Amino acid sequence: MSKQYEKETICIQSGWKPKNGEPRVLPIYQSTTFKYETSEQMGRLFDLEEDGFFYTRLQNPTNEYVAAKICELEGGVAAMLTSSGQAATYYAVFNICEAGDHIVLSSTVYGGTFNLLTCTMKKMGIECTVVDPDAPEEEISKAFRENTKCVFAETIANPALVVLDIEKFARLAHDHQVPLIVDNTFATPINCNPFEWGADIVTHSTTKYMDGHAMSVGGCIVDSGNFDWTKYPEKFPGLCTPDESYHGITYTEKFGKAAYITKATSQLMRDLGSIQSPQNAFLLNVGLETLPLRVERHCYNAQKVAEYLEAHEKVAWVNYPGLKSNKYYELAQKYMPKGTCGVISFGLKGGRAAASEMMDKLKLAAIVTHVADARTCVLHPASHTHRQMNDEQLVEAGVAPDLIRFSVGIENVKDIIADLDQALSQI
Ligand SMILES: *Cc1c(COP(=O)(O)O)cnc(C)c1O
Repeated sequence: MSKQYEKETICIQSGWKPKNGEPRVLPIYQSTTFKYETSEQMGRLFDLEEDGFFYTRLQNPTNEYVAAKICELEGGVAAMLTSSGQAATYYAVFNICEAGDHIVLSSTVYGGTFNLLTCTMKKMGIECTVVDPDAPEEEISKAFRENTKCVFAETIANPALVVLDIEKFARLAHDHQVPLIVDNTFATPINCNPFEWGADIVTHSTTKYMDGHAMSVGGCIVDSGNFDWTKYPEKFPGLCTPDESYHGITYTEKFGKAAYITKATSQLMRDLGSIQSPQNAFLLNVGLETLPLRVERHCYNAQKVAEYLEAHEKVAWVNYPGLKSNKYYELAQKYMPKGTCGVISFGLKGGRAAASEMMDKLKLAAIVTHVADARTCVLHPASHTHRQMNDEQLVEAGVAPDLIRFSVGIENVKDIIADLDQALSQI
């Protein structure tokens, strides 16, 4: 089942395709291990000479079917699930970077990504230069060094809602002989396929819209197969030279376009072990089945809420890329013509204090550290998710201290607006 089907069909029909007499629904392979007839067969699996499952830390059939579905949705060649979005980000970068290497990072990325790449990975000897994604190409170019190994950015930044000029970033990355890695969590493959615009690798926090019901934390990495590592063997020795921990296998030679994901599975998953549980992968798959329906409704509702807020006298500013007044409206139209996401940010004329007061008055919208859920929820990043950042870093990340992140759910939009209306009337 390849390109002939539309995304709505892929979401329902791809991945697990039962044969005669098999379960209609994707089974949960709740097993740590898999049985073989001969010692020789098992040995061949360990040598990566044959495809197959032996231990769930490396691969599990439930996970594989779900990864295959996401891979098809993104138009990639290979994909893997991880235990969280953070693990996906870490593996995606660490798979091609080691101590002494360097990353170029868009300043507006998710707070957890910012922390991981600028602080935690620094302790592993990997340096990071943070760039303003809206800066001119010549300026961003200056961030690259001899030892730069990748560029990392988000399609729609959480929570700054900056829309990435993917083509510009792909050009910059490729001019400097490195891949562009894009976190596509907010847009989802329903609204944007970064590979079509030149991105090489896509990551997801499947915890968000893909799961969609706030049930399971998870992540995914998809490889487009388009970046030719063998053109720069001295830059990517991990992929282009023999791996001693696998009897001298050279991933690019043996696995071609699947080299990057195979290495991430057989080295990083083997050694670091952030596998998604099959139970969570099963839940993720249920979420994926309705992803196109939910994303459409999230975007419809968010547009209405953004328009309501923009017209409200107590609201100082609204940031939603679907608003004509928005700085990123044109870019959003280009890269995500069907819609952007269900997340809006806004500030009140009363500033930070009014934000907390208004949030406490909401009845339907719950205060939770979550986003992109079927249920409307709200968060104040400066006091919650981005608490570890100082004011300067907050501004750099596109997070104003008064910013309220409002994640519009799939309830009836009249009720969501009525809830905001009653809360705003009380401050
Ligand atoms: C939530 C999020 C992450 C981290 O994902 P977890 O599943 O929470 O580990 C990464 N990127 C973006 C854009 C996110 O919203």
